[in-house]
Amino acid sequence: MSQQFDVVVIGGGPGGYVAAIRAAQLGFSTACVDATKNPEGKPSLGGTCLNVGCIPSKALLQSSENFHAVQHDFQKHGISVDGAQMDVAKMLARKNDIITKNAGGIAFLFKKNKVANVHGLGSLKGRQGDKWLVEVTDNGVVVDTLEATHVIVATGSSPRQLPGLPTDNQIVLDNEGALALAEVPARLGVIGAGVIGLEMGSVWKRLGADVTILEAMPTFLAAADQQIAKEAFKTLTKDTGLDIKLGVKIGEIVKGDKGVTVNYELNGEAVKAEFDKLIVSIGRVPHTAGLGAETVGLQLDERGFVVVDDHCLTNLPNVWAIGDVVRGPMLAHKASEEGVAVAERIAGQKPHVDFGVIPWVIYTSPEIAWVGKTEEQLKAEGIEYKKGTSGFAANGRALGLGQAQGTVKLLACAKTDRILGLHMIGPMVSELVTEGVVSMEFKAASEDLARIVHAHPSLSEVVHEAALAADKRALHG
Ligand code: FAD
Repeated sequence: MSQQFDVVVIGGGPGGYVAAIRAAQLGFSTACVDATKNPEGKPSLGGTCLNVGCIPSKALLQSSENFHAVQHDFQKHGISVDGAQMDVAKMLARKNDIITKNAGGIAFLFKKNKVANVHGLGSLKGRQGDKWLVEVTDNGVVVDTLEATHVIVATGSSPRQLPGLPTDNQIVLDNEGALALAEVPARLGVIGAGVIGLEMGSVWKRLGADVTILEAMPTFLAAADQQIAKEAFKTLTKDTGLDIKLGVKIGEIVKGDKGVTVNYELNGEAVKAEFDKLIVSIGRVPHTAGLGAETVGLQLDERGFVVVDDHCLTNLPNVWAIGDVVRGPMLAHKASEEGVAVAERIAGQKPHVDFGVIPWVIYTSPEIAWVGKTEEQLKAEGIEYKKGTSGFAANGRALGLGQAQGTVKLLACAKTDRILGLHMIGPMVSELVTEGVVSMEFKAASEDLARIVHAHPSLSEVVHEAALAADKRALHG
């Protein structure tokens, strides 16, 4: 006999598990079906983000940053650490512990909120009266059938593959393989200078690999404000030592037993590069395999995304979709906010997700973060603006941290002074960008931010100073 629920969520990533918890909190009987298993074959909630994305990548970034600091920065503090060694297996074990701990935390929250935790692949099978039928299979065997009044599809995304070059996660790696390399490769190639390519390239570079990043676009970080992107390019090539080649035309790639040869064209010249490992990070595609979209007539667009309206409702009654599998930025926090909003909408509330104020972060060293419009976008849209910039070079806290490098740029409307964008590169800007998010959500003016007392000494003083600069009142500029 099938189990009946008010809400069945398919996918237990940051979109799905958050939607399930919120739905349960609102009084709905809720189940979450998730297919992810950890390398030991055990169910592991948290989706791409926890298992092979945001969290493990940040764990490895921190380990590699520590190793780099021991080698290059500790001496300046008067600390000598001779013969520092990197134990990659231990680093990976630490990363895996973090995943296991957090996945267990989600399972605990499911129990606490009475969300039924169903492991397996969820497939939409059709309608029975006013209920949707979701069949759950594990290793091809039907283990459950759930009836749901509402279904929330949160099946996420998968790495885009290069045509004719499937990843094997031995030599040609996607994010999963890039986060699990058993040893540091001598020569690492990365195709794609996006967020994932830059973060993964940084990890293995700091651990000793020779890293070459090949990017098809002639512009570095085209989505970012170009002043910040240019500074990032300089720092990542000069200080981090990443060899980033822009405007590359990838040709034939030949995989051997011990490595890979990438033929490419750069500035009209043919180049043949040999790598021990190759990370392919050319974006991600929506994941709907096994969902049963065709069976029930769930509408997908030409790129495979589930089509939704502004409220995340699909073309089918009471079937919603959120996160990476629908339009919009592929970010964990966007997925979670949509999950909350859908659960609340099912409950008859009127939630809102502000797509204009979603923060972006790249966790390189220094970090890069932004929210709102770039200077290029404002120019293209003909919006008159003013800007204020300030640097970390003379900031006392940044100097103490030994990370006195980077810039904050604030953009505000020339007429109303309302903050339109905040762009930064520097230490811990992943945290500082929230100041811009909060300000923009409260429709603050640059003067508001400039008149708010900021703690001293703190990195946030640079944001304060950028706001003062926008008002031509900079004190340290
Ligand atoms: P997912 O997290 O992909 O979860 C989908 C889940 O659904 C998976 O567990 C999958 O197994 C399951 N599933 C799929 N189909 C079915 C089915 N039919 N039945 C049952 N289960 C199914 N974003 C950030 O915001 N910050 C970061 O720092 C960041 N770093 C990243 C680093 C890397 C290396 C990668 C790859 C991604 C990163 N992202 C980051 C992106 C982030 O991981 C995604 O935006 C986020 O995970 C999307 O959440 P989601 O819930 O939509 O889907």
